[in-house]
Amino acid sequence: MVDVIIPAYNEEGNIEVIYKELSNTLKDLKYTLIFIDDGSTDKTYDHLVDLYDKDKKHIKVIRFSRNFGKDAAIYAGLNHVKAEYTCIIDSDMQQNPKYILDMLKFLEKNTEYDQVAMVNDYKEASKFQRLAKTSFYRLLNRLSDQKFVTGASDFRVLRKYVVKAILEMKESNRFTKGLFSWVGFNTYYMTYKVDKRHSGESKFKFRKQISYGIDGILSFSTKPLKIATLIGSIISLIAFIYLIQIIGETLLFGKEAPGYASMMCVILMLGGIEILVLGIIGEYIAKSYIETKNRPIYLEKNSLGFDDDIL
Ligand code: UDP
Ligand code: MG
Repeated sequence: MVDVIIPAYNEEGNIEVIYKELSNTLKDLKYTLIFIDDGSTDKTYDHLVDLYDKDKKHIKVIRFSRNFGKDAAIYAGLNHVKAEYTCIIDSDMQQNPKYILDMLKFLEKNTEYDQVAMVNDYKEASKFQRLAKTSFYRLLNRLSDQKFVTGASDFRVLRKYVVKAILEMKESNRFTKGLFSWVGFNTYYMTYKVDKRHSGESKFKFRKQISYGIDGILSFSTKPLKIATLIGSIISLIAFIYLIQIIGETLLFGKEAPGYASMMCVILMLGGIEILVLGIIGEYIAKSYIETKNRPIYLEKNSLGFDDDIL
C-alpha cells in the first residue's frame, strides 16, 4: 500500500537505524522500502545487501554507478514505485518516520488532497540560517510564477497520479522541490520538527546549498534575463541623458568636459555589469546545453529485489 523511497549517499551509520524505525512504524501496513545507493564510497551498499538478505519481502535496492545527487535518486525511486501511496524520506533520521502514518491517515481521510508535504518550522535553525532560507524562498517566489512554500521538504507522501506527473518531467536539471509544486495538484502542508542527524554529516553544506538555490531559480524562472535587460536599458538611458547634458553644456556654455576619473568609473561599472549580464545569459545557455544532450538522469550499477520487474 505504501512504497518508501530512501536516498542514501555515504550513510553507513544510518541504514540499520532507519530500516528498524521504518519497519516498526509500517509493520501493520503493506510496504516496500526502496533504498537508492547514490554512489556511496563507504559501506552503505554492504549494509543494504545485509538488509536485503534479511528481509527480501520488504527491501529493494538500486545502486548508482556514481553519485548523481539526491534529486536523481528520488527520480530513480519514483520510477520503480507501484503502490497506491509513495513516500520520500531521508536516510539520516532527521525526518522521523512516525510522521508517515500521519500523512497516510490524512490522505485516506481527505480524498480531495493529492499529496502531503512536511514543512520544516526552522525552530532549531540558527537566526542566520532562518534568514537565509526565508530570503531565498521570498526571492524564488518573486522570480517564479510558481508558488513555493517556505521550508517545504522532500519528505512527503504522494498519490499514484502525482508520481506519474512528476515522472513526465524528464529534465536532467531536477530541482525536485520545484517539480513538486510545478505539477500542481492539491497539497496539504504539515509542520514537523527536524531531528538531529543520527550519524555522519550533511551533504548539503552552505556552498552546495547556495548553488542548489541558484539552480532552483534558473530552473523555474527566466526573470533574471529580464532583469538583465532592464538594468541594461536603465544604464543606457542614464548614459544618454548624461551625454546630452555634456554636449549641451559644452556647446551652450563652453564648459570643458570633466576629466578621465569619472570616465574610468563609468567604464568600469559598465564593464562589470556587462560581464554580469553575460554571466546570467551564460548560465541559461549552459543549462540548455546540458538539457539538449539528453543524457540519462542516473545510471544503475545493479539492483536487488526487482527481478520480477521489467527494468
Ligand atoms: N543524498 C543523496 N545524494 C547526495 C546527497 C544526499 O542521496 O548526493 C541523501 C542523503 O543520504 C540523505 C538525504 O539525501 O538521505 C539528505 O541529505 P543530507 O542529510 O546530507 O541533507 P540535509 O538534511 O543536511 O539537508
Ligand atoms: Mg539530513
